[in-house]
Amino acid sequence: MKILITPRSFSRSKELALEILKDYDLDIIENTTGKTFDEEQMNSLCSDVDGVIVGIDPMTERVLGNAKNLKAISKYGAGLDNIDIDTANKLGIKVERAVGTNAVSVAELAIGLFFELSRKISASAASVKNGGWDRFIGCELTGKTAGIIGLGAIGRKAASMAAGIGMKVIAYDPYFKDDSFLKEYDIQMKPLDKVLRQGDYISLHVPVTEETSNMINRETLKVMKKTAFLINTSRGGLADEDMLYQALADGEIAGAAQDVFSKEPPGEHKLLGLQNFILTPHIGAYTKEANQRMVVQSTKNLVNMLFGDE
Ligand code: NAD
Repeated sequence: MKILITPRSFSRSKELALEILKDYDLDIIENTTGKTFDEEQMNSLCSDVDGVIVGIDPMTERVLGNAKNLKAISKYGAGLDNIDIDTANKLGIKVERAVGTNAVSVAELAIGLFFELSRKISASAASVKNGGWDRFIGCELTGKTAGIIGLGAIGRKAASMAAGIGMKVIAYDPYFKDDSFLKEYDIQMKPLDKVLRQGDYISLHVPVTEETSNMINRETLKVMKKTAFLINTSRGGLADEDMLYQALADGEIAGAAQDVFSKEPPGEHKLLGLQNFILTPHIGAYTKEANQRMVVQSTKNLVNMLFGDE
């Protein structure tokens, strides 16, 4: 069988995958370009493979339709928005995610961005390096309200960390059912508009779906406090970037930090010119620990999907 491994950071812990794969007779194609593949490249690379461990490279209807031998797609991570799931289902291609492997890393980045927005740590440090001694008046997190939207693997970690630093935690997730978790961290579930209205730090941890696409828009930004911060470590498609620009420029909310963008890298975008907006280059899951867990889990998932019935 032939498999394709696309994630750029996979090679960092490749030996862990090879240890799992050594018992199988596999022809392995790796991504040595240092870049995410585009649709054209995926179309050609997937045309004769049996399985793929995929990062954020596009697995569109066209790519899947052309991949005649493809039986299994193992997502190196949690978000499935780059995979056409309906088409995969129709074609009988199995899809599995490396659930929870990067939850701690992404949640820690989200909370790091809470601190960054509150204390402007990087802007302060940059001012000193530029010969200045500029001090920005900050605000404390303790006693403030964290509004967590989406209580999956990452949202739950972020919620527990926020509770750990003395924040009041409220959350919205219509599909969440674990009352014991809510009790353990004293978290109150509320409707979306209440979370947006009451939260000082609104942190997004939902996938992009029809329901959540542009959930941060003109209307929802208007209900947020003027002093509130938006943190998006999930996906760019969750926030309408033009409306976010307007809200930040007009002071409708205090600031926003994203690890994701509708187009990555974003090129020139007016949001990047704002003092109260920061963007990190999709580093949420980019830690040594998450990398190792994602390599191991995505490899095991692929092997299970390809050989599990043998
Ligand atoms: P998950 O599937 O464990 O959790 C998603 C949660 O969202 C679930 O609890 C689900 O019930 C909830 N949800 C779904 N629709 C909702 C809605 N309409 N309103 C409110 N809640 C809703 O996924 P996860 O591992 O926690 O990951 C969350 C997202 O983070 C992923 O979809 C991915 O896009 C993103 N992510 C980003 C990075 C990064 O590097 N920045 C890394 C990993 C994941």
